Amino acid sequence: MSAPTPSSKKSAAKPSAPKARGQLPKAAGSKRVYCYGPAGTEGDAGMQDLLGGKGANLAEMCRLGLPVPPGFTITTDVSIEFLRVGGAFPAGLNEEVATALSGLEKALGKRFGDPHDPLLVSVRSGARVSMPGMMDTVLNLGLNDTTVEGLARKSGNRRFAFDAYRRFVQMYGDVVLGVRGADGEDECPFHAALDAKKRAVGARADTDLSAADLEELVGVFKGLVRAHTGREFPQDPTEQLWGAIAAVFRSWNNDRAVAYRQMNRIPTSWGTAVSVVAMVYGNLGEDSGTGVAFTRNPSTGEKRFYGEYLPNAQGEDVVAGVRTPLPIEHLEETQPRAWRDLQRIQKLLERHWRDMQDLEFTIQEGQLFMLQCRAGKRTGFAAVRIAVDLVKERRISPKEALLRVDPEALEQLLRPVFDPAQLEAARRSGRRLTRGLNAGPGAATGRIAFTPTEAVRRKSAGEAVVLVRIETSPEDIKGMQAAVGILTARGGMTSHAALVARQMGRVCVAGAGQLEIDTAAKRMTVGGQTLAEGDWISIDGNSGEVYAGQISTRPSEVLESLLGDHPPAERTPIVAAYHQLLGWADRERRMDVRTNADQGDQAATAIALGAEGIGLCRTEHMFFGERKIDAVREMILAEDPEQRAAALAKLLPLQRADFAAIFKAMAGFPVTVRSLDPPLHEFLPHEPEQMAELAINLGVDLERLSAKIHSLYESNPMLGHRGCRLGISYPEITRTQARALFEAAVDVFVSTGRAPLPEVMIPLVSTARELELQAGLVRAEAEAVFAERGVRFPYLVGTMIELPRAALTADLIAEHADFFSFGTNDLTQTTFGISRDDAGKFIPLYIEQEIFPADPFANLDEAGVGKLLEIACEGGRRTRPGIKLGICGEHGGDPRSIDFCERLDLDYISCSPYRVPIARLAAAQAALRRNPG
Ligand code: PEP
Ligand code: MG
Repeated sequence: MSAPTPSSKKSAAKPSAPKARGQLPKAAGSKRVYCYGPAGTEGDAGMQDLLGGKGANLAEMCRLGLPVPPGFTITTDVSIEFLRVGGAFPAGLNEEVATALSGLEKALGKRFGDPHDPLLVSVRSGARVSMPGMMDTVLNLGLNDTTVEGLARKSGNRRFAFDAYRRFVQMYGDVVLGVRGADGEDECPFHAALDAKKRAVGARADTDLSAADLEELVGVFKGLVRAHTGREFPQDPTEQLWGAIAAVFRSWNNDRAVAYRQMNRIPTSWGTAVSVVAMVYGNLGEDSGTGVAFTRNPSTGEKRFYGEYLPNAQGEDVVAGVRTPLPIEHLEETQPRAWRDLQRIQKLLERHWRDMQDLEFTIQEGQLFMLQCRAGKRTGFAAVRIAVDLVKERRISPKEALLRVDPEALEQLLRPVFDPAQLEAARRSGRRLTRGLNAGPGAATGRIAFTPTEAVRRKSAGEAVVLVRIETSPEDIKGMQAAVGILTARGGMTSHAALVARQMGRVCVAGAGQLEIDTAAKRMTVGGQTLAEGDWISIDGNSGEVYAGQISTRPSEVLESLLGDHPPAERTPIVAAYHQLLGWADRERRMDVRTNADQGDQAATAIALGAEGIGLCRTEHMFFGERKIDAVREMILAEDPEQRAAALAKLLPLQRADFAAIFKAMAGFPVTVRSLDPPLHEFLPHEPEQMAELAINLGVDLERLSAKIHSLYESNPMLGHRGCRLGISYPEITRTQARALFEAAVDVFVSTGRAPLPEVMIPLVSTARELELQAGLVRAEAEAVFAERGVRFPYLVGTMIELPRAALTADLIAEHADFFSFGTNDLTQTTFGISRDDAGKFIPLYIEQEIFPADPFANLDEAGVGKLLEIACEGGRRTRPGIKLGICGEHGGDPRSIDFCERLDLDYISCSPYRVPIARLAAAQAALRRNPG
């Protein structure tokens, strides 16, 4: 193979793809450097853990005979060791890299550091899973004041050589030597110098700068390095190489990589590989360029090759979003040969990996080179559509399709769109500001923040925020997380931040080029209108439109197809794919999916979303209504059992009506109703005016009322007089609730002919005796109602397991329980001894310091809380084989926790209505992982 170096147009042959496909034996053990290229390829796509996704897939593409510039990969193990010992390379690595480098020199017929025809390399990061743009890369390494002249002579293109050199000094200066603005958000000094140069010579784009301009710029850049570091820019290519390798290893721990890992639960211990790759050049002129493409549309999932291309540019220009690129179709006309090759290769790669691929490529003087290939990041819409389409195309099975979609991504399909009437009104009143690229779907409305810091600040103050930036940068990740939407003036669909926004499920409009953003002055101007920080703005990630002001939202088309009064007769592709995928999920899952709902309308929504029962009806939530709350207050403030009975008599019909609505909505599905749980003073007013009002309403003396309220005060209500302790103190409350419930059940049975399936649940039990007493009351009341009404049907009485003692004595508690439902919110609180209400103050710090892998209130702590669940399941089943087991804590809607529930063999999971589809898919995945057959 000839060298992938720019050839003089007049002289030497152009670089060509590796033809030979000799393969070295796959080595294991202590091998730390893996080569790929015409002389042989070590490693393959199966070695992502060791070679990182990039290294493994480059090797695989080489094996497929694709045009990949040769190179070598240093394993992730080396980075872990390097970081563990505080930044020293392991002994012997030097020799292994030197051998690999000389192999590369031989393959290309060039030498690293050769003053006449230098081999240049890129040094790239690559973790086991892709972390787009989170770590660092250095291009054009090997250039110095001498080799740049050799490159200029050899290529016959001085402008190109100095463009490559200024890029190298800039990247190396930033990544390796740490030459940056004072604060992470300040402008980079290299960018500032580049912009100043462009202004000085009247250049609109970087490509308008001449060879002489670029040469001068190199001098300015080197001066910046000297000023910031006190040292000259390193001229020795070997020193440059080791500096870059160390910096890329260290970039595993930069702020944005750490934040990205935390968001995606990627362990620190994985480390990053480093790929050293022979350079190919997209900045050689108009017949060169660089691009990013997806084998299908990553926003909608449509089966259509999709991508962006920048002529006369190098890789980072596209992904960093510095210039807004051209649509990929442009290549068909301007670069027909490369276009044909790209078409052939994209089809081949998608077939090979049986999934949508994200490709990075460079065209050097008309010839295509593949630089990267990985499973493409995609929106929830695209994930669902692509998975279902691949089944239709017979590329994957329905089971594989189910495993391809992140359950959390379904949330995007259920996310709101703008209310059409308000949208139209906004258009008519001239509030439409501009249009950008529809980079992340959904509709978002919020207050403008111009910096990530401001976005985080506003979010913590409880505001909805839209982060508005000039260009997308992976540095913004924390601000992106805080925002409901992201709007940028520059950058394309394939910029790193657009990829990350899509993956995070943020609404994103990118590349809205008409925006003039002045970050320092905290304002932006577009179409004659000026908006300041804190002003409302609305962005539509489906159309790319941007509007001033607030626009309210309404359900998405998928939600409309599930909940709408008039779902459209014809399903759009995404609606059809959603229904297909969830249908497959229901076929595969073993656990039932129930919902936590307290009102008839919530229950109806949950059913429409696929719930198969109620796993938790918190009866206290049913009291939040004007009339009901006063009756409850009267009950709490009663001075004696007679007064309490009178108040409860008022409550009974109200509760009965609510229960009846729920039983009707759940037609024949089980309904788990919990007796009163929270401490009583939560229902009472605490402000003087409200107390006075209540005293008048109830006709009681204000002083006595406030004394009573005061007497109910608890230092730690979470561990106080709540749960079954209330029912033990005031058995008439449990009795009244049970009566209301069974009367409602009988009414519904009589009116519909269909027997409801009530399951009565006693909360916060810690001893078997508590349950024995409370269950006794419930059963007696049920039997009394059945006897009075002359009908009967099966029902269950069980308990929540939400205290460690209950879990540890589950065998004894099961004597009195037909079922257990794990209340993992309280169980997490009491196992860790962390108050649910105060956890937010320090849990983020615990996650940052990797004391907790994740928030235990969101992801079930398998090692601790999970062990209690195991003990409780085992104890319950020992006493009562076949005891019904479920979960109703928030973890019931969390895919990881659902996987654990599957392994515990629970009968059902229960979650909030809008998480039901997520739980259905997660339950199917859990079943498939447990039983792949
Ligand atoms: C629980 O503790 O997990 C639970 C579901 O009950 P609540 O959140 O109402 O305390
Ligand atoms: Mg609880």
